Amino acid sequence: MKTVNHWIGGKTVEGASGNYGPVTDPATGEVTTQVALASAAEVDAAVQVAKEAFLSWGQSSLAARTKVLFAYRALLDANRDAIAELITAEHGKVHSDALGEVARGLEIVELACGITTQLKGELSTSVSNRVDVAAIRQPLGVVAGITPFNFPAMVPMWMFPLAVACGNTFILKPSEKDPSAANKLAELATEAGLPAGVLNVVHGDKVAVDALLSHPDVAAVSFVGSTPIARHIHTTASANGKRVQALGGAKNHMLVLPDADLDAAADAAVSAAYGSAGERCMAISAVVAVGAIGDALVEKIRERAEKIKIGPGNDPASEMGPLITAAHRDKVASYVKGAADQGAEVVLDGTGYTVEGHENGHWIGLSLLDHVKTDSDAYRDEIFGPVLCVLRAETYEEGVALINASPFGNGTAIFTRDGGAARRFQLEIQAGMVGVNVPIPVPVGYHSFGGWKDSLFGDHHIYGNDGVHFYTRGKVVTTRWPDPSEDHAGVDLGFPR
Ligand code: NAD
Repeated sequence: MKTVNHWIGGKTVEGASGNYGPVTDPATGEVTTQVALASAAEVDAAVQVAKEAFLSWGQSSLAARTKVLFAYRALLDANRDAIAELITAEHGKVHSDALGEVARGLEIVELACGITTQLKGELSTSVSNRVDVAAIRQPLGVVAGITPFNFPAMVPMWMFPLAVACGNTFILKPSEKDPSAANKLAELATEAGLPAGVLNVVHGDKVAVDALLSHPDVAAVSFVGSTPIARHIHTTASANGKRVQALGGAKNHMLVLPDADLDAAADAAVSAAYGSAGERCMAISAVVAVGAIGDALVEKIRERAEKIKIGPGNDPASEMGPLITAAHRDKVASYVKGAADQGAEVVLDGTGYTVEGHENGHWIGLSLLDHVKTDSDAYRDEIFGPVLCVLRAETYEEGVALINASPFGNGTAIFTRDGGAARRFQLEIQAGMVGVNVPIPVPVGYHSFGGWKDSLFGDHHIYGNDGVHFYTRGKVVTTRWPDPSEDHAGVDLGFPR
């Protein structure tokens, strides 16, 4: 069986704790790999390596850093397929989707290639008599990133490229469910010339995470994952004096107004609800149909959903792959099975689905629930599977109130031809990312990604300008060079004006 070890100090470091976790191919249900799970002592050893590397990397020139990042960009580009294959083998998503994930991660590497512009700083000359003021931003030191299973390459790339471009050194703790892509990303960074110890990958579970959260030499923690763990990370790391950004789960709504192009809305709903088997934090999991269009919209969604081809991610004919684990598949199925008892109409029931020749895979078909009640489990919980809930609202105002009552506030979308309504929605909706006729409004790399309410704990969104701010701290330098021809001003105990 393949073993995934740690990547520390620019080389493979074998796990020393004796603990390993299983990694399963979701399309076959077979355990293909074991991943080393680090002890607190192994985490500490990695932090010491990163701390040592910071002494020189933190002082390195911007030219030296961007040289590495441009080389890294080229290597990632050449290895898109190889990275996508690793993702599909352990996550299960279809190859084209895995390629999309790599492309969106690459965007942040490209942003990091331009760090020279982002770190230019500010200068105000002659704020007073021969006094200038400069604002600069400096790296924090050793920073850590803890990432979820659903984007094993993209989410790490939301973090470490900008962090190291800003001069920090990085410890990545990937999801133990699909760990291989992270090692590939780190190996390529070393090949691109990133000095040993600048980017380290330490695999593990809660033990490794808690060791990072309490380590005195870790200055900041970026987290992406579920809301309960995001809350724990934010509380614990903050209590330990660290800077934290902790992105959590979601329930993303799509509001469809009566004037919308219903075919376009149905296409978008199916793509955004069932893509990656619904295992996306920006998946649309609730459609709110406004006015009399509900039945027509549900019918159009049903027609499209029934045609989706489910199969192994490495089969080019497959449009949707399996779920990450059998336990998660069963949990997703329980929401569909309980939906009718809680008042919903089950239009499509995907439970009990299997793929011939792959009977042990973690399969589930597409489910569509209509007339879903806001107090039902299927609506309240983040299901994180291919289950789309449809709710009805009489008016725009009722739809917006329904969405704003959700404790989550990650992404949302409105489908309409009415510019005035779309503009109102942008201003009135309580979510961090809004799409107008765009179902998955993941911001491009040079804008920042982040939700509101229980979808993000902390002040900074991730990547973009917020990313640069998160991974640096400001310093303001006030300078006076006295004119030698002038007399000294003398002692003045008043506050400088
Ligand atoms: P998860 O919260 O279970 O795990 C995320 C990370 O936390 C993993 O590295 C895991 O090892 C670690 N972890 C798990 N339990 C822990 C514990 N008790 N203590 C310390 N660390 C722990 O999330 P997941 O199932 O891997 O990913 C899916 C979730 O991530 C969904 O809720 C999804 O919405 C969310 N997500 C959010 C975003 C976003 O940008 N907001 C993006 C992707 C995924």
